[in-house]
Amino acid sequence: MTEHTDQLEPMPTDWQRALAVVAHPDDLEYGCAAAVADWTDGGREVVYLLATRGEAGIDTLGPAECAPLREAEQRASAAVVGVSTVEFLDHRDGVIEYGVDLRRDIAAAIRRHRPELVVTLNHRDTWGPGPGGYWNTPDHRAVGRAVLDAAADAGNRWIFPELISEQGLEPWNGVRWVAVAGSHTPTHAADARPGLERSVKSLLEHRAYIEALTDEEPESYVRTFLTTNAERAAARFGGRPAVSFEVFPR
Ligand SMILES: [Zn+2]
Repeated sequence: MTEHTDQLEPMPTDWQRALAVVAHPDDLEYGCAAAVADWTDGGREVVYLLATRGEAGIDTLGPAECAPLREAEQRASAAVVGVSTVEFLDHRDGVIEYGVDLRRDIAAAIRRHRPELVVTLNHRDTWGPGPGGYWNTPDHRAVGRAVLDAAADAGNRWIFPELISEQGLEPWNGVRWVAVAGSHTPTHAADARPGLERSVKSLLEHRAYIEALTDEEPESYVRTFLTTNAERAAARFGGRPAVSFEVFPR
């Protein structure tokens, strides 16, 4: 009898442009690429913005070699789900600072791309539900929070007036939702089934990263991770495997 109150709402569909902003190459692929594949299938435009090039992500590879490799992997993984525009802000991997510089960079991108939907990754302290959850990384917390803030900054001409005077970026107050993937308090979900196979291929494009991360066979590791998450969300989405989001309306 209480199960209906526990169900996740379907993601909004009355939008045309989305901007997805995360800290690292692979964040969107672990988080929500199946939903992105379905969105671009529907003729929607999705742009990726990465705060870093993930240059601190592979223990055996120094940042100078790692950055271009991970950038290339990110562009390939975006292409698999229909995303052709991938931008990088060049904040430093692992030590991204939450603050006005980060908010300004993200607000500028929101003004350039004029999205109705902005997507990011879990900004909360932990991943798991309640006590015992894994501690989130400082980069994810900083970027997620700055994205939520920048959605409003982008619409106010008096916050970061230099974006207008120096870059000609007029305010964009058209962000209607910020959707946070990987949140342990989701409100909405997208059907993962149409995009699930491509989400596996998309995450697999981060092959150098994954091979350094695990001894498991990469495709089996990726498939297990993504299908397990989608099936876990199904319990709250009418039994359909899903990508869940915590949606903040604006
Ligand atoms: Zn990350």
